[in-house]
Amino acid sequence: MYLLAEIHTPGTAFPGNVFFLLIFFGALAFFGYSVWARLLKPMLQARREDRLYSLRSIAKRTAELIPLVLGNARVARPRYWYSGILHTMIFWGFVVLQLRTLNFILEGFDEGIAIQAWGDPVYQWLRPVMDLFNLLVIVGVGMAAFQRFALRPPRLTLNWDAWAILFLIAALMVSDVMVNAAQIALYQPDWAEWSFLANAVAPAIEGWDRGALEAFHTGSWFAHLLVFTGFLCFLPFSKHSHIFTVPFNVLFKRDENYAYLRKLDLDAPLAEPEPGKEDELPAFGVGKWQDFSWKNILDFYTCTECGRCEVNCPAFLTGKDLSPKAIEHNARMHVTHEVDAPLIPLALKKGPGTTGSADAHGAPGETLIEAEGFNSIWDCVTCGACMEQCPVMIEHIPEIIDMRRFLVMDEARMPETAQATLANLEQRGHPWRGTAHTRTGWMEGMDVPTFDGSQDYLYWVGCTGALADRNIPITKAMASLLQHAGVSFGVLGDLEICSGDPARRMGNEYVAQAQIQQNIETFKQAGAKKVLTNCPHCFNIMKNEYPDFGGEFEVIHHTEFFNDLVKEGALRPKKSLGRGKYGDQYTVTYHDPCYMGRHNDSFEAPRELIGNMGARVSEMEWNRRKAFCCGAGGGHMWVEETKGKRINHARTEHAYATDADTIATGCPFCIQMFEDGIPTVQPDEEKRMKAFDIVELLQVTVLPSGNGATAEAVAPAPGAGEPAGEAEAAPDVTEM
Ligand code: SF4
Ligand code: SF4
Repeated sequence: MYLLAEIHTPGTAFPGNVFFLLIFFGALAFFGYSVWARLLKPMLQARREDRLYSLRSIAKRTAELIPLVLGNARVARPRYWYSGILHTMIFWGFVVLQLRTLNFILEGFDEGIAIQAWGDPVYQWLRPVMDLFNLLVIVGVGMAAFQRFALRPPRLTLNWDAWAILFLIAALMVSDVMVNAAQIALYQPDWAEWSFLANAVAPAIEGWDRGALEAFHTGSWFAHLLVFTGFLCFLPFSKHSHIFTVPFNVLFKRDENYAYLRKLDLDAPLAEPEPGKEDELPAFGVGKWQDFSWKNILDFYTCTECGRCEVNCPAFLTGKDLSPKAIEHNARMHVTHEVDAPLIPLALKKGPGTTGSADAHGAPGETLIEAEGFNSIWDCVTCGACMEQCPVMIEHIPEIIDMRRFLVMDEARMPETAQATLANLEQRGHPWRGTAHTRTGWMEGMDVPTFDGSQDYLYWVGCTGALADRNIPITKAMASLLQHAGVSFGVLGDLEICSGDPARRMGNEYVAQAQIQQNIETFKQAGAKKVLTNCPHCFNIMKNEYPDFGGEFEVIHHTEFFNDLVKEGALRPKKSLGRGKYGDQYTVTYHDPCYMGRHNDSFEAPRELIGNMGARVSEMEWNRRKAFCCGAGGGHMWVEETKGKRINHARTEHAYATDADTIATGCPFCIQMFEDGIPTVQPDEEKRMKAFDIVELLQVTVLPSGNGATAEAVAPAPGAGEPAGEAEAAPDVTEM
C-alpha cells in the first residue's frame, strides 16, 4: 500500500481547490439546469401518457434493460457490425470507467476519501481492467473517427456534434492516463504495475525534474477536470444526450406493437374551455409540440441520428421527402426553440444543425407542421421498418400519424387522393371508389353460409376481398378451401363495412371510430367469437385496436390458419404446383406484408405452407423483419405517391432479383401493388412474373382442378423473372 500523504492532488490545495470547486459545482449546476430546461420542462408540459401499463410489464421492460441497454443488442446487429463493435467498446468503457471518474471527483475533494485510498485490494485489481477499457475506448473513438472521415456512410449525420464528442471522449481517456502516469512518475505508488497503460507511459516522463513533473501532473489533472465538466455541459445539447436518456426510453417503451394507434378522445377538443385556458384543450392529434406525449419528447432527445431508420425507410429510399430521422431531429429542434430557457445561449440552443441527409427544419418561428413538412407527414406508409431498426426504441409511426390526424381533423389538409378516399369511406363504408362489385357478388355460384353465431368462425372478407377485381378470386379460393377442409364458417355479406384501418391510418379518427364501433356491434350481435381474415390490416386493427373500443375477439390470419389446417391434415396438398421456368423445382419468393410480419411477428407460417406445397422459397434480400413495404400501408393503397420512384416498383424489382418463378404474399393490398409494379418492371407480357395470394397456390395443390385451381394458372412464363431493365436489388446497408 502506498502512503496517502505522498500523493498530492492538485485540486485539494489552494488555489487549486477553489478552481476545482468552482468548475465542478458550476458545471454540475449548468448540466442540471440544461437537462431541466431542455428535456424535463418540455416533458412536463407535454401530454400525459400512461407508460406503466402493469406490474408484469414493468418487470418485463426492466429485465429488457439488460439486453437492450447493457447488451447493446439492437446496436450491435450483424448488419451494422462496424458501428456495433465501436459502440460496444465505447459504451462499456464508459460504464467501467465511471469508477475511475468517481475516484477522480472524490480525490478532488480530499485524497483521503478517494476510492484508491480505501478501496484496495478490489480497486487495485480493477486497475488493469479500467486501463484495458480505457484503451478500448481510445480504439473505439479511432474507429468512429475513421468511419466518419473515410467510410462516411450516408446514413450518418456528419456534423461537428459527433466530432466534438469524439474529441472530448478521447481527451478524457488520454488525460486520465496522463494523470495516472504523472502520479506513477512522481510517487512510485505500489499500484503502478497494475495500471499497465499509465505504467507504460510513465517512463517517458520519469526523467523530468520534479517541478516539471508536478506541473505536468497539475496540468493533466485540471485538463481532465475541464474535459470532464465540458463534456457534462455539452451533453444535454448534443445528440449524445442519449447516454442518459436511452435507459429511460427503453424502460418506457410501448407494450403495444409498432402499428398501434391510441384511441383519440373526440369530445375533449370540443369542450368549452375555461377562460384563459383555450390553449390547453387537447387537439385532434398533434398540431403543436405540447400535444406530443412526454414519451414522444423523450424520443426526440434520445435519437442518436444513427440513420438506421432512414436507410430502411421505403419512402426515404425511393426519394420522398420523409426521413424518419429528420422527423425526430426536426421535432427536437422545434421543441428546443419553443421552450423558454433564458440561461441557455442561442448558439447552444441551435445545436449542431442539419441532419445531413434530409431537409432540416425546426428553425425559430416555424410551426410544428412546418418544421416537419406536410409531405413528410403524408409520405409514411406505416411499415414499421424505422421502429424495427431503431437501436433506442423510438416510436415514429404514432408520432407521424398523430400529426396526420391533426392535419385531417383540425385543418382539413390532406392530399386530394386521401380526401376522395375518406369521402368514399364516409359515404359508402369502403375505400374503393367506382367499384362495380357488391359485398356479396363474389359468392355467386358458391354456397357460402351467412354467419349466424352457430358457426365457429366469422370469415371477414374485407372491402378489397369483395370489391376489387384482382382480389375476388382470392376470396373465392379462401372460401372454397374452408369448405373443402370442413371448417364451420359464415360471412357477414352486406353487414360488412370497412374495418376502420384506412380511415385511422389516414388520420380521420371520426370515420375510423364510427366504423370500429359499428363492426364491434355487428360482431357482438351476430355472436362472433373467432374472426378469420386474409387482410393483415383488418387483422391488425381487430386484434390490437378493437379491444380499446370494447371489442375482444380472437382474430386469425389466413396464412396461420391454413398452415395449421395443412399440418393437422385437414388439407392435403397432393397436387403439384408444376415445374419452375427452368424445369426445376417451383420457386416462390414470399413478400412479408408489414402488418403481418413486422407488426404481428408472423413470418414462418407462410413459408412452411409454401414448403408443404412442394415449392422452394427464394428469399428477397430484405425479408422477414427487414422486409421492404409494398407501398400500400398507412392508407397509401389509395393515396398517390407524388415524388420519387414508386415504392411498389422498387419492391417488385427486389422480387425480380430473386429469379423466382412466382411472387406470393398474404395481403390483398400487396397483391394489388405487385399487379401494378410487375408491368412496369417488365412490359413484355410473355416475361412477366405473376403475383399470387398464398391461398391461390394452396388451392392448386389441394382442390380438384377447375376454377383456376390448376398448375397452368400458376405456371411461370418462360422468361418470367427477367426484368426489362436492370432489376435493382434492395440497397445493401451492411458495414455502415
Ligand atoms: S413507418 Fe415506414 S414509411 Fe413510415 S417512417 Fe417508418 S420506415 Fe418510413
Ligand atoms: S430514430 Fe432511431 S434509428 Fe433513426 S436516427 Fe434516431 S436513433 Fe437512429
